[in-house]
Amino acid sequence: AKDTGKNNVQFYTMEMNASLEEKLELMDGLRTALAEEQFRIYYQPKVSLDTGMVFGVEALLRWQHPVRGMMAPDQFIPLAEESGAIVSIGEWVLLTACRQARAWQLGGLAPVTISVNVSARQFDDARLVMRVQRALELSGLAPQWLELEVTESLIMRDLQQAIAKMRELKAMGISLSIDDFGTGYSSLAALKSFPISSLKIDKSFIRDLDVSSDDQAIARAIISLSHQLQLRVIAEGVETVQQRSFLQDSGCDDMQGYLFSRPVMPEQIQGMLEAQGEA
Ligand code: C2E
Ligand code: CA
Ligand code: CA
Ligand code: CA
Repeated sequence: AKDTGKNNVQFYTMEMNASLEEKLELMDGLRTALAEEQFRIYYQPKVSLDTGMVFGVEALLRWQHPVRGMMAPDQFIPLAEESGAIVSIGEWVLLTACRQARAWQLGGLAPVTISVNVSARQFDDARLVMRVQRALELSGLAPQWLELEVTESLIMRDLQQAIAKMRELKAMGISLSIDDFGTGYSSLAALKSFPISSLKIDKSFIRDLDVSSDDQAIARAIISLSHQLQLRVIAEGVETVQQRSFLQDSGCDDMQGYLFSRPVMPEQIQGMLEAQGEA
C-alpha cells in the first residue's frame, strides 16, 4: 500500500508537469500566433425577434493551431489573459472586425452592428480608448456600428473606474453591452448607472427554458428589468423553436444562437445579408 501511494504521488506529479508544459507551450505559441496569421474570426448573427432580420454580428475568435487544429477561445483566452498577449490579440480582433464590417458596407450590404468581446485585461489597458479610436480610423467604420461586450464581473471589480471608462467609450459614439447578464453580481442601482444600450441574457438561463420554471422567471425578470431601464435585451444560446417562442412571448427584443446560425466565416454572413437584402 505504501508503494502504491508513492506511485500515485509520482503519477500525479507527472500529470501536473505535463499540463504545465502544455500550458507553457500554448503560451509560447500565442506569442507568435499573430505574426503567423493563425487567428480567425467567426461571426454569429444577432437576429431581431420581431422581424427575423440580422441586424448585427458578434466577432468570436478562433485559433488555427498548427498542431492542434481549430481551437475555441475558452482553450486559449485565459492563457492569453495571463500572459498579457490578449492586449495585442484583442487589438487585432477589433481592427479586423471593424474592417470586415466596413467591407460589407462598401460591398453595398445593409449595415450591421459589429460586437466585439472585451476581457478584463483589455478593459484595464490604459490605451483601450485610443486603440478603439484607431481601429475606427484605420477601418473607416463609423462608431455607431461598433459595440463592445463587457461582463458584469469585469465592471464590478472597480465600479467607478469602469463607469468612467465606459462613458469615454460611449462619448466616442460606440455602444456598450453587458454580456452574460445574471451570472455575476451587480446591484440594480449600479446597473442604472452603466452607460450601456443592451443586456445579454446568459445562455445558462436559456438552455433549460423549456423545462425550468425558475429559468423562465429569471428570463422574464431580466427582460422586464431591461425594458424598465430603456435597454434592449438579447438572449444568447437559443437552440430550439420553443425557446424562441417563449422569448418572443415574453417581449425579448433579439436573439442569438444555433437555432438561427452558428458562428460562421465572413463569406457566409455576406450570403445571409445578401439574401436578406433581396427579401
Ligand atoms: P461569449 O461572449 O459569451 O460568447 C458566446 C459563446 O456561446 C460563443 O462561444 C458561441 O459560439 C457560443 N454559442 C453561440 N450560440 C450558441 C448556442 O446556441 N448554444 C451554445 N451551447 N453555445 C452557443 P465561443 O465562440 O467558444 O466563445 C467563448 C467565449 O470566449 C466567449 O463567450 C467570450 O467570452 C470569449 N471570446 C470569444 N472571442 C473573443 C475575443 O475576441 N476576445 C475576448 N476577449 N474574448 C473572446
Ligand atoms: Ca459575448
Ligand atoms: Ca455571453
Ligand atoms: Ca461567456
